[in-house]
Amino acid sequence: MMGIALALSGLAVTAGSGAGAGGPEPRRFEAVETHMGSPFRIILYTHDEAAASRGLRAAFARVAALDRALSDYDPESELMRLCDAAGGPPVKASGDLFEVLARSRAMADRSGGAFDPTVAPAVRLWRRARRERKLPDPDAIRKALDRVGASKMTLDPAARTVRLEPGVKLDLGGIAKGYASQEALGTLRAMGLPVALVAGAGDIAAGDPPPGRAGWSVDVAPLDGPGAGRPERTLRLRNLAVSTSGDAERFVEIGGVRYSHIVDPTTGLGLTTRMSVTVVARDGATADALDTAACVLGPERGLALVASTPGAEALFVRRSPAGDERFETPGFRSLVEPAPAP
Ligand code: AMP
Ligand code: MG
Repeated sequence: MMGIALALSGLAVTAGSGAGAGGPEPRRFEAVETHMGSPFRIILYTHDEAAASRGLRAAFARVAALDRALSDYDPESELMRLCDAAGGPPVKASGDLFEVLARSRAMADRSGGAFDPTVAPAVRLWRRARRERKLPDPDAIRKALDRVGASKMTLDPAARTVRLEPGVKLDLGGIAKGYASQEALGTLRAMGLPVALVAGAGDIAAGDPPPGRAGWSVDVAPLDGPGAGRPERTLRLRNLAVSTSGDAERFVEIGGVRYSHIVDPTTGLGLTTRMSVTVVARDGATADALDTAACVLGPERGLALVASTPGAEALFVRRSPAGDERFETPGFRSLVEPAPAP
């Protein structure tokens, strides 16, 4: 593929065999299902095969239920019905939808609007641009931006209601997969299966580490350019989440310019800086929302946002004609697995 923007994209999961001293080893179970338009992979360790299959079923069911609440593709989702009620009286929301909206609102406030769940009208213009390979009309972008702004969404935590101003549409694509991966991991833990990892595409929630290991090994690997196929970094994670965002897979190229599926809410335009951001945080929704915000903000302001989030670390890779520039928070290095002895 020509002109791949990123040195970093995609995450591959590897798990050890779990060899350790004494006693029968727990077995490794792994399953994949498609939800939220992406493969969700679950890996867990247990001695109990029946518990493993019950856990996998329940965890995938949790993700499926979240998809029904949070999807902006399914016109019948709770989110879409809420958007249909924009301009009307406040609408009662489910616990999950309210929680994700509240976290989205908090990230919008913290990022100065770089992450914005009301960016949907502009995102839709860019989805159409991608299908038609034609830039959105500037007038249409201006009209879409009139309907964008997190303050157009009023949340009442006591009543658990949401009120949207007329014409407001919501898109939780920048946070939902991270939230879902974390919730699926929580489902497994509640069923007595804490040694698990859930990967909703590039949104990964890691639980207790595999037997005999200090953490789950998660490769952050470049897919193109120099060093393709070789892991850029392998992270070692336990009870942490990681999310990667960037324009490696989803973009449109028009007139020689690449536009990302991530939209800058101040301009209504898809990002054109070629960048990938990997964020590690204490939970999946935080990692997911932060990586989208950080892509919009760029390394300088993005690093400051990540650094002000307790427990969060990030690696940015920005491609420029002069080569790839890397930026990371000071603590990111401590998450990287030591290189194996030669
Ligand atoms: P991610 O891959 O986590 O960065 O999420 C990207 C998705 O988030 C896009 O496909 C849109 O659905 C949505 N999105 C795009 N731009 C923004 C933005 N500025 N704030 C919040 N969500 C966005
Ligand atoms: Mg995200």
